[in-house]
Amino acid sequence: AKSSGKNQYELFHQDMHQDESKQMMLETYLRKALERNELYLVYHPIVDTESLEIVSVEALVRWKQKTLGDIPPSEFIPLAEETGLIVPLSEWIIQKACEDLNSIHVKGTKISMNINVSALHFNQDGFIKSLNEIFQKTNVSTRHIVLELTESMIMPNAVETVDKLVKLKQLGIKLSIDDFGTGYSSLSYLSRFPLDTLKIDQSFIKGIAMYKENSSIVEAIIMMAKRLNLNVVAEGVENKKQYERLKKEKCDYIQGYYITQPLPKHKLLALLHNWEGN
Ligand code: C2E
Ligand code: CA
Ligand code: CA
Ligand code: CA
Repeated sequence: AKSSGKNQYELFHQDMHQDESKQMMLETYLRKALERNELYLVYHPIVDTESLEIVSVEALVRWKQKTLGDIPPSEFIPLAEETGLIVPLSEWIIQKACEDLNSIHVKGTKISMNINVSALHFNQDGFIKSLNEIFQKTNVSTRHIVLELTESMIMPNAVETVDKLVKLKQLGIKLSIDDFGTGYSSLSYLSRFPLDTLKIDQSFIKGIAMYKENSSIVEAIIMMAKRLNLNVVAEGVENKKQYERLKKEKCDYIQGYYITQPLPKHKLLALLHNWEGN
């Protein structure tokens, strides 16, 4: 089995034909993950397309389970949402990201911190209060915090949503729409909601250097964003061709493996240190 290159988690995934028992086992493990310090964050830089300056990093959660190994967030975030564990998990992520941003700022680099928000946490009554408590407790500079929301999160209840987003903006933070273009929703919210940034989903970036259709969509999104005074980030940029194309289209920021993989904090600090020498 080892020679096939699969890790423990993938093997477990393969063997567990019964989905329910697999879910139950993961749930038990996930409950313990926080206490056991099995979760950690990695940071993925977002750079200015023209200057390549690092303007922000996106916090991405990782789970190294003692016996199963690395479990991807695409597996355990939905599970955490089903079981309600997402609230303590999400609060832990936000607090950790704020603390790490503080220590990055102490080293002298005033970058921002993008934090992914879970739909379930966002829709809880106490969401803004819990966020504010973390901001107070960590004394983080809120103007350097960017929350990444998805279209599906903010669409169902448009009236209440505007209210919530306005309250979030009053905390001094910025708001970004993640995975833009995949939500199949009306675009009217873009002008009604107090947003700062659109992140073009990586599926559109994939074929940008090859397929006319994808590059037309990306061009149109960038143009629309400019008219609406929104910044644009292209995510999932993996090669030079895609980068050159986005630069030509005047996309403000890029993120992806072309620049770097997501990094643990100590490696990010080293990168920030060397990057300034460019
Ligand atoms: P996302 O927010 O859209 O994050 C982007 C995903 O694409 C990340 O996967 C990232 O590692 C990956 N990626 C970045 N650049 C490239 C690239 O150039 N090529 C390719 N192929 N992939 C790239 P990851 O870390 O596995 O996260 C998957 C999803 O899990 C995230 O999608 C997000 O929805 C969720 N997630 C991750 N961390 C958190 C978190 O801390 N809180 C919440 N609520 N959700 C999270
Ligand atoms: Ca994201
Ligand atoms: Ca995304
Ligand atoms: Ca995504």
